[in-house]
Order: sequence, then structure tokens, then C-alpha cells
Amino acid sequence: MNKIVLITGGSRGIGKATSLEIAKQGYFVCINYKGDKKSAENTVKEIKANGEEALAIKADISIEKDVLNLFKQIDSMNGILYGLVNNAGILNKQSPLVNMTYNRIKDTFHTNIIGSFLCAREAIKRMSLKCNGKGGKIINISSGASKFGSPNEYIDYASSKGAIDTFTIGLAKELAEDNIQVNAIRPGFIDTDIHQTYNRLESVKALIPMKRIGKPIEIANAVVWLLSDKSSYTTGAIIDIAGGK
Ligand code: NAP
Repeated sequence: MNKIVLITGGSRGIGKATSLEIAKQGYFVCINYKGDKKSAENTVKEIKANGEEALAIKADISIEKDVLNLFKQIDSMNGILYGLVNNAGILNKQSPLVNMTYNRIKDTFHTNIIGSFLCAREAIKRMSLKCNGKGGKIINISSGASKFGSPNEYIDYASSKGAIDTFTIGLAKELAEDNIQVNAIRPGFIDTDIHQTYNRLESVKALIPMKRIGKPIEIANAVVWLLSDKSSYTTGAIIDIAGGK
């Protein structure tokens, strides 16, 4: 039986690097994406070229119907759902709260937190011992922004990631006796397209103790560890990978 790992937003950036590393460990990777089919297919192609297995599945995780369809497709596959990486996330333009529209705030929370809740809920139904599952691992991708609040920039995003931290702590305790480990990774500045609306990666380097921007693979490596048996006593942890920031 294949051990399936679902990664939301697994087609680009941190998600892509993580999909490639997860596949190398022998998991069947389900790569969820929202709209950029080409990037998703290219990531699948790269994985298959290495002789590993992956499938791209389109779904907007902020929409419940899409999430239910996503998991239905996983149910039809030959394998069991072993891992969920709640990675998909959005970041809007820099703005103080006073200028943020309702739609912006709603979209940020719907994708970054409600989407993660919905995916975790469906994963638990497949993994939980209480639901005749075999256990599993849930890994939430938070952000260093949750610690700093990101004033005048993206307080909506930072708050949604604060909610991810709290979600991780609570869900880990809720599932600790159910053989499901729940952990989070809190990346600092990582070089991906998420920063394309206002490229300030160069200017923030000076604020980072290690004086450099992180690479997507540096997040992927931690996800691989959390998915592995080597993290067997770790749950409810929030791991900062941020060059010391
Ligand atoms: P990215 O390069 O912008 O990639 C975002 C991915 O999420 C894409 O695959 C995108 O799919 C997918 N996505 C967005 N909205 C979605 C939705 N509603 N449903 C399904 N998929 C959706 O982002 P990234 O920088 O790799 O970030 C990945 C995660 O790390 C996010 O949670 C982000 O908040 C977090 N993070 C990033 C940084 C950083 O500096 N990069 C720092 C801290 C935390 P499409 O391409 O199809 O739209």
C-alpha cells in the first residue's frame, strides 16, 4: 500500500521543494494547487522523472466543496493517507489595517486558516484510530510573522499565522492519544514568489542574524523529519526556521 502525503500548495515555492523531498522518501505525493496547472504538472513531471510517484489535484482549499472533492480523489487512490502538509497560503500587498478591504481580510483567513482547518478535519477522518485509521502526521506551515505581528504591512496574514500556531497546539493535544502528531514550522523569509508583489527580500537581509534569506529546501528538510519516525515523540511543536530571527 502506498503511503500518501497530501501537500496543499505543493506546486510552487516551499511546497514544490517539499513535494520533491517527500517523494524522495518513497511517499506518494498528492500535490494540491489552486489555479496554476502548469507549475503543478511540472512538479509532478520532475518527481516522475526521478522514478518517484506524484499526482496533481486542483482544489481551492478555502472552499469546502473543493476540499471534500480533493479528499474523495485521495480515497479513490491505492494507498492510505499518512501525512498532510498544510502549506498553501497567501500574502497580500503591504498595507495598514485601516486600508484593508473586507474581501482581503476574508480571503487571507479563508485560505490560511479555514483552509487548513478543513483539510485537517478531512485528514483526521482518514487517519484517526477512532475512525479506523492507522494514525498519521499533520504539519502546518506557519510564519515568523505570527511572532512579530507585521504592523503596517500585513497584520491580516500575521494574525492568520498566529491562529495556525494556536491551532497546532490545540489539535496536537486533541489527537495525541489517537496516533496523530501535529506540528508546525515557522519559516522566516524564504525566497519564493510569495514576495513578488513587493520584493523586499534584499532589504530585510540586514535584519536576519544569519544575514541571508532562506531557501525552500531548508523548510522541506524539516517537513521530511517531521514526517519520519525520527520525530516520534514530537507533537504540538512549533519549529522556527528563520536564520535566528
Ligand atoms: P508561493 O510560492 O506563493 O506558493 C503558494 C502555493 O499555494 C501555490 O502552490 C498556490 O497554488 C497555493 N495556493 C494558494 N492559495 C491556494 C488555495 N486557496 N488553495 C490551494 N492552493 C493554494 O508561497 P510560498 O512562499 O511557497 O509559501 C508557502 C507557505 O509558506 C505559505 O503558507 C506561506 O504563508 C508560508 N511562509 C512563506 C514564507 C516565505 O518567505 N516564502 C515565510 C513564512 C511562511 P497556485 O500556484 O495554483 O495558485
